[in-house]
Amino acid sequence: MQQLWLSAALVLICMVPATNAQSAQDQPLRSIKWEHYQAQAVQLLQEYLRIDTSNPPGNELAAAEFFHRLFDQAGIPNTVYPYAPGRANILARLKGDGSLRPLILLNHTDVVQTDPSTWRVPPFSGDIVNGEIYGRGAVDMKEEGLIQAIVMLIAAREHLPLKRDLVFLATADEEVGDTGSTWMIQNHPELLRGAEFLITEGGANLSHEGRGNVYSVGVGEKAPCWISMTATGRGGHGSMPISDSAPNRLARAMRRVADWETPIRLLPEVERYFHELAALQPEPRASQFRNIRQSLQDPAFIQWVSEDEDLNYMLRDTVSLTVMKAGMQTNVIPDTAYCELDVRLLPGSNPEEFLRQIRAVVADEHVEIKPINPFRASNASSADTTLYRTIEEVVRHLDPRAVVLPELNKGYTESQMYRQLGIACYGFGPEVMTPEIEATQHAANERMPVEQVRRGLRLLYEIVARTVNTP
Ligand SMILES: [Zn+2]
Repeated sequence: MQQLWLSAALVLICMVPATNAQSAQDQPLRSIKWEHYQAQAVQLLQEYLRIDTSNPPGNELAAAEFFHRLFDQAGIPNTVYPYAPGRANILARLKGDGSLRPLILLNHTDVVQTDPSTWRVPPFSGDIVNGEIYGRGAVDMKEEGLIQAIVMLIAAREHLPLKRDLVFLATADEEVGDTGSTWMIQNHPELLRGAEFLITEGGANLSHEGRGNVYSVGVGEKAPCWISMTATGRGGHGSMPISDSAPNRLARAMRRVADWETPIRLLPEVERYFHELAALQPEPRASQFRNIRQSLQDPAFIQWVSEDEDLNYMLRDTVSLTVMKAGMQTNVIPDTAYCELDVRLLPGSNPEEFLRQIRAVVADEHVEIKPINPFRASNASSADTTLYRTIEEVVRHLDPRAVVLPELNKGYTESQMYRQLGIACYGFGPEVMTPEIEATQHAANERMPVEQVRRGLRLLYEIVARTVNTP
């Protein structure tokens, strides 16, 4: 949704002091010496960013040991789980009274590789320049992982009452193979399965000039369902055209696929997304978004929304033509032609049914259409839960002009794996970024404003402190 937000100076949010009207749950928050914890978070984030966990190879054991030392010093029970040379996960747990099911704070400790020559400061320096902490992982996702750990430390030190277990889980290898989370789920499902909620990456909060901040909470994602199409036909000399040659058949098939408008299917979370997004729209868009179900009966609106790349993907299964291969020489008509389609399915869509549809659209028995990879079904968590409502309430309390949106991620996230254990998973980070800063993830000069580390810590702590005590 970046097109809706102008790249502007970061809108820093004042932390609104707690009012008398708040519930007893907020009591511990007011007595916390935030200055101390915030300074600690900034200093520890610098240290954490200095650990090089570029993946491959990862070396996430060093990151697990970093958290292990931190939790040991605070007296928080924790276990490091090495599962391959240099690779490890770590899980820490603060026990609740057992009356409610656990809340998991999940983060990954690996980062993507980078070329230091393209950086302003070395990528593993943790240097602060002009109020911003630089380092590979500052956005994705060492900052969030670190403040999740500090939330654990504060909860322990301030004796936060807990009806739920509060679990911290840092895993290796999210960026390449998901082996950390896969290993954890296969080998220690008992540590995770009973949980009710999980918070991890997958949402992004952006400042929206003049109209407040937009917080996106990732509630689901689309599933890649990659498909190949192979056309066959008689080969020959390029000087004598063959009308039903493999390349011609494939070109016609690709044309039919490219022109195909897949059916619209409105998920409840997406309906809510449009409803909340209406607050940022001028009329008549605002009314159309608020009544999206009805608007999607209007052909003119359908055409408009289908052409908006940031909105279209949430409303339907999508197809992008990507790889194309045929022929080696200009004067030779080849006997096969091949292409690949990047298909993304909405939660609930059936890959077999989609294959049937696309075969019907192509309608050519000389074009073989089949899946490339095994399909991993996508899933979503309801936006009607205690944790989601708590995120909304806390964000709006601390940032009264904020808009909170349940977002369907375009890409795959690890939440997909944890949802299969019956856990409601949300992509949520408490920082607010400009599009410019957000764009530094996986790129050069990745950085996080110090002020966002400080305010993000309070925001996440309050969300956690309320959730662990709310049925
Ligand atoms: Zn990440």
